[in-house]
Amino acid sequence: MEKKIRISITFFGSLTDLSKARMIELEPGVNQTIKDCIERLGVPHTEVYFITLNGKFVKFDKIVENGEMYFVYPDSDLEIPEEYILTPKYEGEPKFILDIHLGGLARYLRMLGIYADFGIIEDEKIIEKARNEDLIILTKDRMMLKNSEVKYGYIVRSDEPKQQLIEVSRRYKLKNWFNPFKRCILCNGKLLPIEKSKILDKIPEKVKEMYDEFSICSGCEKIYWGGTHYEKMNRFIEEIRKYV
Ligand SMILES: [Zn+2]
Repeated sequence: MEKKIRISITFFGSLTDLSKARMIELEPGVNQTIKDCIERLGVPHTEVYFITLNGKFVKFDKIVENGEMYFVYPDSDLEIPEEYILTPKYEGEPKFILDIHLGGLARYLRMLGIYADFGIIEDEKIIEKARNEDLIILTKDRMMLKNSEVKYGYIVRSDEPKQQLIEVSRRYKLKNWFNPFKRCILCNGKLLPIEKSKILDKIPEKVKEMYDEFSICSGCEKIYWGGTHYEKMNRFIEEIRKYV
């Protein structure tokens, strides 16, 4: 009888939130890639930046062999030869699509001016839209990111929206892209300035007396103006900036 294949996989950095180092045992005669082994331990491929085996870089399609020890690393600023970077870095302004459990985070991102598509329920449709529009999937569902169609994705660790915002802002260096009050919290549309005279029939009497600057959502036409809510949000944004 052929011996079973035993390998060990050690995770580093933020990947230890998702899985612990482990020996795994595979049936002999089955060609298993290191990618399959890593995903089986609960770490989606989108979280893996590079892998080493005995100090040498390997790719996802490496077939594992008995006795091997793999080290698996998350996104980092280390200089890795390009062909061994397993998750491409996202270029340009980050744009997200969020699963249906992350509504609070979606609202916070929009408040900060970050593109945050939200509202699609089915996983397959989220994956399809992400692929067509080059969006980063934010989710708490590991299964979704194990789908090989997913190019960019991140498992949100925290359960609390404010912590989630800090976490995602750090991971994607969003600070450079913050542009508060330029995006509609309801629909993700861009806000455009609009003259007060054009919307007089659409705002309450009291608001008319108190404010002169307005903007309108290019998507749902909701009208925005300053006020106590605005000040509260400003304080929130200042606080977030301290952590990211
Ligand atoms: Zn809107």
